[in-house]
Parts: sequence; C-alpha cells; structure tokens
Amino acid sequence: MEALIFDQLSLDYHHVLQAAAGTAAETARDDAIKRNYGKYVLIVDGGIPLGQGGALSTTGGKSGLEIVRNAARGAALIVAVGTCATFGGIPAAAPNPTEAGGTLDALRELISKGEVKAPVVNVPGCPPVPEVMTGVIVYFLTYGKVPPLDDLQRPIPFFGRTVHDDCPRRPFYDQGLYAQSFDDEGARKGYCLKDLGCKGPTTFNACTTVKWNQKTSFPMYSGHGCLGCAQPKFWDREGGFYGKLF
Ligand code: SF4
Repeated sequence: MEALIFDQLSLDYHHVLQAAAGTAAETARDDAIKRNYGKYVLIVDGGIPLGQGGALSTTGGKSGLEIVRNAARGAALIVAVGTCATFGGIPAAAPNPTEAGGTLDALRELISKGEVKAPVVNVPGCPPVPEVMTGVIVYFLTYGKVPPLDDLQRPIPFFGRTVHDDCPRRPFYDQGLYAQSFDDEGARKGYCLKDLGCKGPTTFNACTTVKWNQKTSFPMYSGHGCLGCAQPKFWDREGGFYGKLF
C-alpha cells in the first residue's frame, strides 16, 4: 500500500493525510480535478447523507453529495472503499435519519444521464481489506480496466467466495461440531463458531484468503465469528452480531 501511494500515485486530495487545510485544501482538490480531468482515480470513503439534498454534511460550504458528484464527473475510475462508502454502512443503519447511502446511490442519476462514465468498484468491509483496495487500483493501472465485478459491483477475484468457503474451522462445521461459548473446550479445539453468531456463510470477502496485518490473522483464527461487515445492511442484520444465522 505504501509503495503504491508513494511511488505510483499522486495523492492530490485527502481530508486527513494532506498537509493543506481550509481553503487551500479545497483549492487543491479543485485544481487536481481540472488538471487531471478524465484521468484520475477517485477513492470515496464514508457514507454520503442524501437527505435534504445532501445539506446535512458540508465541507467548505459544499455538501458531501455535491463534492463527490463533481469529482466523479472527471474520474477515470471510482473506487468506493468501506461498507459506508459502498452500501451506506453504519450511517445508513435504521432509522437512517440523514438518508445516508453509498457512492452508487449518490451517483446513480448522473450515471444514467451519462455524466459519470467511470466504472464504480465497490470494496466493502468495516474496515476494507487494504490489499483488496490496492489490488483493484493496481489491476486498473496494469490492464486499463477494472477486474470482473459481481452484481454488487464487487471485484470477483476478492469477493467471489464467502469467508466460510475457506475458513479453517470449516472441517468442524462439516462434521457438525460447534462451540457453544467462546471459552469452552470446543472453541479451544477450533470448532465452528456458527452457534455463536458467525456470519461467514453469507459474507463475501477475502478475509480468510488475504487475511489481515500482513497475513497474520483474521477473526476466526483468533476465536471470534465473522460479523458480516462487508455485506449490505450488516449493522441491522436480523439476530444482531451474536444471533444465529440458522
Ligand atoms: S466459524 Fe463461521 S465461517 Fe468458519 S466454518 Fe464456522 S460458520 Fe463458517
């Protein structure tokens, strides 16, 4: 990730990482759009309040909705990172008072009018897997196109399988051996965590294959079930985090 940012890309605008602030920051973004129109990668992070015309979230006097729409018009590629930017995430949890949505929700009208031509790739996850974000951008820089996408605009090479498909606890699932508490004998032996609320069977992500922290671990390795954070509406899922799926 560091090599991509430092050696391959020019990070012209970022709320947190840029040195500029205030008017200088907003000017840097507008200048970058003009200078690179049609050629830049737009990475969107965070849910977008769509209610009241976007007026519930503003930066420098402009709504987040206006800023993302304006930036999207000149982009060559749009990558929505995180479950908030892809599906609305926690800001869109019921009762969703700001009518928050994801990037596609914010851009749908412009896409249908042909004002936004760039492909939109969704990389959900709370947080999203860094290697997946990097992989999408590197694929685009290498091949000049986006990887194959599924019906939720997620890159199939990373979201083509559920975390359950490749889980190391899967052999126990297949034998019907389930832990009944996080500290019982079965949990210590690596039994499946389905009865403790694991959402792995219905969650598509690369956690079990790419893993986290430079391939160190991921939830089911460390004894916790999957929360399903990469799926739409995961926060409002029936049963909550620890309710059984089936
Ligand atoms: S722990 Fe979760 S992901 Fe792993 S086998 Fe059991 S249900 Fe599937």
